[in-house]
Amino acid sequence: MQPTLPWGKVSTSVSMFKIDLHVHTLFGGDSVLDPETLVARSRQVGLDALCVTEHHSYFLSDPYKKISQATRFPIFQGLEYRAMEGHLLIYGLHIDAEDLPPRLPMQWTIDWVQSQGGIAVPAHPFQRWSVNGFPGRKLWEMKNLIAVETLNGSLNDEENRQAAETAERMGIRGIGGSDAHGPAVLGRAYTVFPEPIRTEEELVAALRQGRYLPVWNHRYYGCPSRSGSRVPCAEVLADRKNLSPQTPLRKTEESP
Ligand SMILES: [Zn+2]
Ligand SMILES: [Zn+2]
Repeated sequence: MQPTLPWGKVSTSVSMFKIDLHVHTLFGGDSVLDPETLVARSRQVGLDALCVTEHHSYFLSDPYKKISQATRFPIFQGLEYRAMEGHLLIYGLHIDAEDLPPRLPMQWTIDWVQSQGGIAVPAHPFQRWSVNGFPGRKLWEMKNLIAVETLNGSLNDEENRQAAETAERMGIRGIGGSDAHGPAVLGRAYTVFPEPIRTEEELVAALRQGRYLPVWNHRYYGCPSRSGSRVPCAEVLADRKNLSPQTPLRKTEESP
């Protein structure tokens, strides 16, 4: 039987568009992922696209415009910003630290990014070991949020579970990304969209629209749900029916 996805379109995981929305590479200075490995590994683990999110700068990943064309692999650009309370993934704005100095209050930044036409998504909001802090339950007080990173491929199940639970309580969507700083976890978590996304403008529009889900890449990295975890993976999602866009992932994992 064909599974019904949350946005009501009957489809299979094969036709979903999978984007790793949180990737660091060599150009950011804190990753060993070189462009060649990035593209080869992305294809190997089944990604359809990825978004490079170097720290504090959209422009650091500018070389990927040409690399994406040359390799015919869609590579979008965003950035990861360190706000006072923790990290934000920013999509749709061409900015760097001169436009947005580090460590501004998270709420102020979310509102500013929104006013400029972009989207700011709290990244790994419950990552306990982070030296940069994490918003944790402060997230509940945040306004104007479109999504939260509820599935980070570099975090443990508990940290992801808390993020997913928080997004559920707040009634906002979750995205998935690997937060890879090397090839070993690239594409371990990603976000699935019902249609192909060709440009950064389409990515921002799709994120606003809300038709997407964070998914664990069980094909290459194993499915943690098999060990009792609530982390969603494509296999589990494909078995679920009649999910509405507001249906919390955690509940779908628990439902019979
Ligand atoms: Zn981060
Ligand atoms: Zn990161």
